[in-house]
Amino acid sequence: MRSEELAINGGIPVREKMLPYGHQYIDEEDIRLVESVLKSDWLTQGPGVLEFEKNVAERVGAKYAVATSSGTSALHTACFAAGIEKGNEVITTPMTFVASSNCVLYRGGIPVFADIKVDTYNIDHEDIERKITKNTKAIIPVDYTGQPADLDEIKEIAEKHNLLVIEDASHALGATYKGRKVGGVSDMTVFSFHPVKLITTGEGGMVVTNNKEFYDRMKMFVTHGITKEKDKLFDYQGPWYYEMQYLGYNYRLTDVQCALGISQLKKLDWFLKRRREIVSMYNEGLKNVEEIILPFEKPDVKSSWHLYMIRLKLDKLKVSRRQVFEALRAENIGVHVHYIPVYLQPFYQKLGYKRGLCPNAERYYEEAITVPIFPAMVDEDVKDVIKAIKKVIACYRR
Ligand SMILES: *Cc1c(COP(=O)(O)O)cnc(C)c1O
Repeated sequence: MRSEELAINGGIPVREKMLPYGHQYIDEEDIRLVESVLKSDWLTQGPGVLEFEKNVAERVGAKYAVATSSGTSALHTACFAAGIEKGNEVITTPMTFVASSNCVLYRGGIPVFADIKVDTYNIDHEDIERKITKNTKAIIPVDYTGQPADLDEIKEIAEKHNLLVIEDASHALGATYKGRKVGGVSDMTVFSFHPVKLITTGEGGMVVTNNKEFYDRMKMFVTHGITKEKDKLFDYQGPWYYEMQYLGYNYRLTDVQCALGISQLKKLDWFLKRRREIVSMYNEGLKNVEEIILPFEKPDVKSSWHLYMIRLKLDKLKVSRRQVFEALRAENIGVHVHYIPVYLQPFYQKLGYKRGLCPNAERYYEEAITVPIFPAMVDEDVKDVIKAIKKVIACYRR
């Protein structure tokens, strides 16, 4: 029968239209709120920014929040507040988007990569400890796929060696760690509001912290290092007066974007619930496929399930990850791969990072496939994905 033949070989695809791996969810309420800001006096730096900051801080259990133009600028801002400067080493994971370590380079620091664990694919705290030197200043763990890293172990190492922890929680808005909310655990926690992430503002990001000093520094950094607040000025020459005290950037988030963020945040609980439902369907539908390893969620955390990763057992398959990937794409399943280990990027290779540095991450990269997950997926979409995976694997099993 033609429908059983893989689409890549001329068979009929499981779906007619490509299902993306992630997608925003925008409703009429979002549009109405954005429209009301467009008709108001403030397009940027009006009341919406403080309101969005306050709402996110409350939701994630932190005292202070600084909205930024992206998750990347949020990471840069946090590195500034942490005092990362030329020659400082910062330990992070290679199993992440390039921004998690680029932010260290922006400050003139040196990213140091620690390998990942083989069950959660989060940074391995034992390897962190091995890579600490007298120049180490901070650790940037990433809550990969939405599952919090081993934050207690990392915190303990940081305290022992007098390091700061900047948690890259771009995947983990709404996640919990041993009953605590992600956002209230590390010295600073960074979120991204890119459209594929948990909630969106188009582009956008946020750093949250319980430390007032970090907060004050970050507030200035996102607006050129300038302050107008009287109690922070060295001098006061009159009502027009402001001071630039650091070399900052224009990393501001606009009121238009914050309106979208405020509206999106109200839907976060539903988004998280829907993602978990999809995960349950995948786990159930794929549990008997012996050629793949399903994602593992530790019992004491609650992932926000930004990504759902499957890992191929290549010894049980006749083909490579690439062929499985391309066959799934041909079935119109918009699979992806998260991530190419950062230090394998040409830019990092030129800086001198060598292949073989983090063997677990390199091996995982060869075997991983990202499967679609986003709140607007309907049950039929999930069933299509399961069907396509089973079809492709059945064809390629040894
Ligand atoms: C998305 C992402 C970022 C960057 O966020 P942007 O908002 O796209 O700048 C950083 N780190 C991780 C782990 C991400 O997934």
